[in-house]
Amino acid sequence: MIVADRKKIPEIRDMIQDYDRILLVGCGTCVTVCLAGGEREVGIIGAALRMALKLSGRQGVTVDEFTIERQCEDAFIDMLAERAEHYDAIISLGCGAGVQTLAERFPGKPVFPGLNTQFIGILESQGVWTEKCAACGNCRIGEYFGICPITRCAKRQLNGPCGGSRGGKCEVSDTVDCAWQLIYDRAKALNKVEILERVALPHDWSTSNDGSVRKVIREDQCIAGMGPKA
Ligand code: SF4
Ligand code: SF4
Repeated sequence: MIVADRKKIPEIRDMIQDYDRILLVGCGTCVTVCLAGGEREVGIIGAALRMALKLSGRQGVTVDEFTIERQCEDAFIDMLAERAEHYDAIISLGCGAGVQTLAERFPGKPVFPGLNTQFIGILESQGVWTEKCAACGNCRIGEYFGICPITRCAKRQLNGPCGGSRGGKCEVSDTVDCAWQLIYDRAKALNKVEILERVALPHDWSTSNDGSVRKVIREDQCIAGMGPKA
């Protein structure tokens, strides 16, 4: 899932300083699961924001709350469209994709992010989320026994560990597992250590996010005559 974190209330308060009727919009998907921008968090942030506005001397500002199932899909945004007309600005508690989808859908209305989108990851333990995938567009974890060295190795080493691996931990922090220790352990458990002796090819970064906007185009899913948006 996409993992996000809440922005601090003063930052959100300052973003809306020119607006009086604010709609705070939650998203019922990834950011609900990571406890950052679902209905519950909309309630918490809404209450905190109203309090912060009052304390800063701003009177007469309305902050209302609404949550839709998914902010990154037009069909769900339909449920918001009529309501949104009554507000000067929207604060989105969706991920970066959600914020931008709302901004495109409501071109005449300012849309502000209430979250900091962090990464694609998982819930590792109660209250701890960890990055697992950098969405490089060319997945090679089949070569690494299901562990991603691009995301989980600080140096993105594709051919074995650097010299800093100590006691199974990465040299950047003793709280971070060395990805190559994990890869080795898993190879050993699968009785495939010899596979690690091969030299891995350099990674093809042309599919990563270092250039322009990426698209996935599935011709078999496109409707004839309604090709992908430019
Ligand atoms: S190789 Fe690329 S797509 Fe696969 S898990 Fe790693 S970053 Fe994600
Ligand atoms: S210690 Fe391990 S995870 Fe850290 S940079 Fe070196 S090989 Fe990568």
